[in-house]
Amino acid sequence: GKVIFNGHIVDREKAIIHIEDRGFQFGDGVYEVIRIYNGKPFTLKEHIDRLYASAQKIYMEIPYSKQEVKDLIINLLEQESASTCNLYLQISRGVVPRNHVIPETASPTLIGYLMPGTRPVDLMKTGGKAVITEDLRWHYCDIKSISLLGAVLAKKKATDAGCLEAILHRDGIITEGSSTNIWMVQNGKLFTHPANQFILNGITRQKVISLLDFNQLPYEETGFTVEQLQNADELFLTSTTMEIIPIVEVDGVKIGNGTPGDVTRKLQTLFEREIEHECGH
Ligand code: PLP
Repeated sequence: GKVIFNGHIVDREKAIIHIEDRGFQFGDGVYEVIRIYNGKPFTLKEHIDRLYASAQKIYMEIPYSKQEVKDLIINLLEQESASTCNLYLQISRGVVPRNHVIPETASPTLIGYLMPGTRPVDLMKTGGKAVITEDLRWHYCDIKSISLLGAVLAKKKATDAGCLEAILHRDGIITEGSSTNIWMVQNGKLFTHPANQFILNGITRQKVISLLDFNQLPYEETGFTVEQLQNADELFLTSTTMEIIPIVEVDGVKIGNGTPGDVTRKLQTLFEREIEHECGH
C-alpha cells in the first residue's frame, strides 16, 4: 500500500525512520487519528487545526500548509480506495544528533497511513466497562503528543481488569479516559471536564458539545468527582474511533441500571446523523 511520507505519497516500504529521529528517541512529536467513513474523512478541518495547534505548543513549525496536508490525505484516500478505516498522521521534530535541546534547524518527519478499523457497533449498543485510576500523566494533556507512556500504563490497568477504559482522576476530580473523553449525565444534565491542560480537547467531545448547543440540551464543562461518577445516572466516553460508547459498569459496580441511558442513546443518534451528513452512508 501507499503512505504519506514527508510531503509525498510513497510505497509503504519506502517510508523508513532514522534512528536519530526525535520522535523515536524523545517522543518529540504530535499526531492525529482521523476517522474515515465511506472513503471520506470526518471532521478533517478540526483535526488538521488541532495538529497545527499541538505543533505550535511544542515550538514546532510544520513545513507544509494545512491545505497541502489535506491534499495529501485526500490523495492517499483515493490511491488506497479507502472505505471505512482510520488515518494515523504523525509529525515528529526530525533527525538531529541526540540532545535534549530543541534544535533550531530540523526538518520535521511527516507520516500518514491508513489503519483498518470498523465502527464499534456492538459496544455502542451494549456499553463497556471501565476502571478508575489515578491520573499519573503530565500537565501537557492538551497537546496531542506522541509521548504516550502515561496513557499506555493507564490502559494496562483497564485491560488487566478486563475493561475497555481507564477513567483517570486528579485529586478525586475526573479528567478523562486514557484515550477518550468522559461524560456524566445526572438529572438530565451532562458534565465533562473543562478543556484545559488536564485533558485533550477531543474533536468528538467538541462535536458532542455542538450537538448539545444546537439541540438546547443542558450541559456544564465542569470537573466532577469520583463519587459523583459512581452515582451518575449515565456515563459515556467519546473518541474518534469509539464515537460514543456507554459505560455501564465502573470498578465492578453498575452505573444507573447497568444499561445504556436515554441521553447517551439520543446523542448516539444525533452523532450518527452528523456522520451521514458529512460522509454519506
Ligand atoms: N483524550 C485522550 C487522552 C485521547 O488520547 C483521545 C483520543 O485519542 C481523546 C481524548 C479523544 O479525542 P478525539 O475525540 O479527538 O479522538
